[in-house]
Amino acid sequence: MASAGGLKTVLLEERVSLGGQIYKQLGTGFVVDPKIARLGKDYDRGTELINAAKASDATILTDCIVASIDGMGITFSVGESQTQEITARNIIIASGAADRAIVFPGWTLPGVFTAGGAQTLVKTQKINIGSKVVFAGSGPLALAFPSQLSGYGVNLVQVLESGPPPQATDIVKILGAVPGNIHLLVDAVRYRWNMLRKRVPLAYGRIVVRAEGDGCVERVVHAASDKDWNPIPGTEQIIEADGLCLGYGFSPSVEALRLLGCELTLDEDLGGLCVVIDENCKTSVPHVWAVGDGAGVEGVYVAMAQGKIAAINCLLEEKKVSQAIAQKQIADQQKKIRQKRKLVRATNRMYRFGDGAYSLATESTIVCRCEEVTVREIDIAMHYGADTMSIKSLTRAGMGLCQGRNCQRHIAARIASRTGMNVKDIPMNTPRFPLRPIPLGRIADSSVVSEKFFTPGED
Ligand SMILES: Cc1cc2nc3c(=O)[nH]c(=O)nc-3n(C[C@H](O)[C@H](O)[C@H](O)COP(=O)(O)OP(=O)(O)OC[C@H]3O[C@@H](n4cnc5c(N)ncnc54)[C@H](O)[C@@H]3O)c2cc1C
Repeated sequence: MASAGGLKTVLLEERVSLGGQIYKQLGTGFVVDPKIARLGKDYDRGTELINAAKASDATILTDCIVASIDGMGITFSVGESQTQEITARNIIIASGAADRAIVFPGWTLPGVFTAGGAQTLVKTQKINIGSKVVFAGSGPLALAFPSQLSGYGVNLVQVLESGPPPQATDIVKILGAVPGNIHLLVDAVRYRWNMLRKRVPLAYGRIVVRAEGDGCVERVVHAASDKDWNPIPGTEQIIEADGLCLGYGFSPSVEALRLLGCELTLDEDLGGLCVVIDENCKTSVPHVWAVGDGAGVEGVYVAMAQGKIAAINCLLEEKKVSQAIAQKQIADQQKKIRQKRKLVRATNRMYRFGDGAYSLATESTIVCRCEEVTVREIDIAMHYGADTMSIKSLTRAGMGLCQGRNCQRHIAARIASRTGMNVKDIPMNTPRFPLRPIPLGRIADSSVVSEKFFTPGED
């Protein structure tokens, strides 16, 4: 849209192909023969959108890691090349989300997958995640994922939904949100019907409290939970399984927005730490827009509408479109967003995230899996500084590959429970360059050569 409107546009994408999360294409080397295989409507819709993007005048760089953003300067590396920089007059950040990690005893055992990880394996590589798989989670994706996984041939033996079952009042609210959402509701019915047809047992109000096994998952222990997802003692049950798939929602990938200094807020309904934007998707930093799940997790349709709103705003900034036309186009997209949010509000009671999920770990549970830091070590570090930065410095929790994406929220919850502070008042540790792991040789100055360590351009 930005490029069609006359803006010089560059799209930087980390993956080797476009499509983001939902319209993800098959892995490199996989070829689809349309005569014998159909990969579903998301795949087809993705192909359509990708072809339109490729046909536009926008410069598209895939296999391109954005390593840093400083002011309006963006540092990125394409493939094996050295980092380069471009400056932009307007930046739209659509960095998506990552699975919201839930820490409990056994969550690091082989065989425990996040829903996104499992989906990527089966969707792009056709790799099954176990012969007897339990799915546990909540929210609309916990409705969709089990059906998708079983459609790809995964043998689901139990689905555990942490939230309560729907009541008549929920159904009435959902019916009130039908306009603009009929396709989503049809999908929801289809997903549930698939599970019924395959006789996959579904239990409401139950949360995974432990995964057990010798070197890999062999048993999943789950318990009844209260409305905040705290497990109720004495209600534990055990399922024999060699795969556990967790779908407790997503957390926005706000790292780039944090580097830029955009105002953030904590909203568990939007996935945790998210960025403050107005109805035009403007952040608190001039000329920076945030859209889609990377701003706050609201799903693909809101993401697409927000992307258009941000693009129209950029066109408006650069005087490539009249105020009247822009306002009309923005209003159309905002209407779509309001319709989607109405459905979210209608399902709030069932799908509200429960903070009890942040208190399942015991003292010996690893919280930071990159650096293998346990709850006990976090507790000891807390004596010297009850804040995420001090704990990071003392234990390395948050310094690993994921840069705290999995553990930070849990550490903040632990600090809150130990000190009585409100978790919203606990600052997350400061983001650092590079945003994504990147070989040192690609960011080193080309004049720096060390035979012992690296030469620029090499991994
Ligand atoms: C794991 C996962 C599985 C999902 N499955 C479903 C599903 O089955 N059904 C459904 O309806 N919704 C699903 N969703 C939600 C849906 O995918 C999103 O709502 C939708 O894709 C949001 O679009 P987006 O553009 O905001 O983010 P995304 O589609 O995630 O796109 C973000 C893009 O930014 C790129 N990126 C991020 N950081 C960088 C960087 N530093 N440098 C370069 N590129 C970068 C990523 O590679 C990615 O392609 C899923 C979400 C996730 C995270």
